[in-house]
Amino acid sequence: MGGLVWFAKKRTGLDCLRKERGKTMKFHSFLIKYGEIGIKGKNRYLFEDALVRQMRYALKDVDGEFNVHKAQGRVYVDAEGEYDYEETVESLKRVFGIVGICPVVRLEDQGFEQLKKDVEAYVAEVYPDKNKTFKVEARRERKSYPLNSMEINCELGGVILDAFPEMKVDVHHPDIRLNVEIRKEIYLYSEIIPGAGGMPVGTNGKAMLLLSGGIDSPVAGYMIAKRGVGLEATYFHAPPYTSERAKEKVVDLAKLVAKYSGPIKLHVVNFTDIQLYIYEKCPHEELTIIMRRYMMKIAEHFAKQNNCLGLITGESIGQVASQTMQSLAATNDVCTLPVYRPVIGFDKQEIVDVALKIDTYETSILPFEDCCTIFVAKHPVTKPNLERIIKSEQKLEEKIDELYQQAIDTTEVIMCR
Ligand code: ATP
Ligand code: MG
Repeated sequence: MGGLVWFAKKRTGLDCLRKERGKTMKFHSFLIKYGEIGIKGKNRYLFEDALVRQMRYALKDVDGEFNVHKAQGRVYVDAEGEYDYEETVESLKRVFGIVGICPVVRLEDQGFEQLKKDVEAYVAEVYPDKNKTFKVEARRERKSYPLNSMEINCELGGVILDAFPEMKVDVHHPDIRLNVEIRKEIYLYSEIIPGAGGMPVGTNGKAMLLLSGGIDSPVAGYMIAKRGVGLEATYFHAPPYTSERAKEKVVDLAKLVAKYSGPIKLHVVNFTDIQLYIYEKCPHEELTIIMRRYMMKIAEHFAKQNNCLGLITGESIGQVASQTMQSLAATNDVCTLPVYRPVIGFDKQEIVDVALKIDTYETSILPFEDCCTIFVAKHPVTKPNLERIIKSEQKLEEKIDELYQQAIDTTEVIMCR
């Protein structure tokens, strides 16, 4: 791991810190804070292992070499040498399960006098505005250290007060909690960058997202993945009515969502023949609902085949004719798996806000045709009657099973990561 070289670099590390003020800080590690809820007892291992796995995945394309590891009930990222700080933090901020990311300065133990100097330099650098209250919180992993935690707190507190008279101690609600951990090396940290929250993907099974090229479905996938659920996706396209470019846009969206959820296996279903057949046989005002029902059935087929425990859509009550309560009931009727609709109560603007936050919005609004908009009726039913819909579907009896099987057999699988 080139420890000595690294320490040699570190010795000048705080000098670098000072020189590079306002630029990338010389933090050598990150302490990861994660929520405690739901990870008691035997679940804790599963939670931590999934967290470590997702962190490694998130860091795999970041410039630098990282060691992600568990130690004493905590999770750390150690940077092995030079790395891109901004990119590292951005990547960790996308890992569900992390509530806080603390950048750590790692110091070689060169005695307490040197530690005093380093702590002073740390505060000088990290807090240009000294008008703050603080508290030193020492922890000794290494009990043989000559001072105990209380003594370290008092001594280092004194050093900071002497060096920066504007700063004051507040042991209850300090602006700055300066953590000093005495391990083999000494860890200094005080900043907490907020994480994505949620639970590590993989701790709550897997679900099948119906992913269109719109704004809503990527957001829906993100929201379910946030609760620890891995994703697969199904996209229905209708060549030549929908273009290759429309499909690429969906692949791009899946890749953007995969930055949070981990790799997504995308099933691309050729839906043209089913759509044309419905168009030919069924009342046009019922087209969308009947199409939706077939989409759900096919997505559910791939869901079950791939051990998914539910379906996910970007539906929101009343958004369009196919999303009234009656329409949702008619669509839902064909599903045997639970259907999760995380944006069901969101207004469009609220969905857009999430899309902007997760960076899918710009891709979603690219103007490519969708298979549903092409076959849409002028006056779709807004209150479909389920019995009537089922009756209309009987007109499809002759060929639908064959077309359904053909759609499944010709489905293309694309790994999106
Ligand atoms: P989005 O809802 O993603 O913005 P949209 O508004 O074009 O796209 P709707 O017509 O609102 O889509 O469809 C509601 C939901 O049905 C979508 O959120 C998505 O889950 C699913 N869906 C619609 N079209 C497709 C498609 N072509 N492929 C896969 N799923 C689809
Ligand atoms: Mg929509």
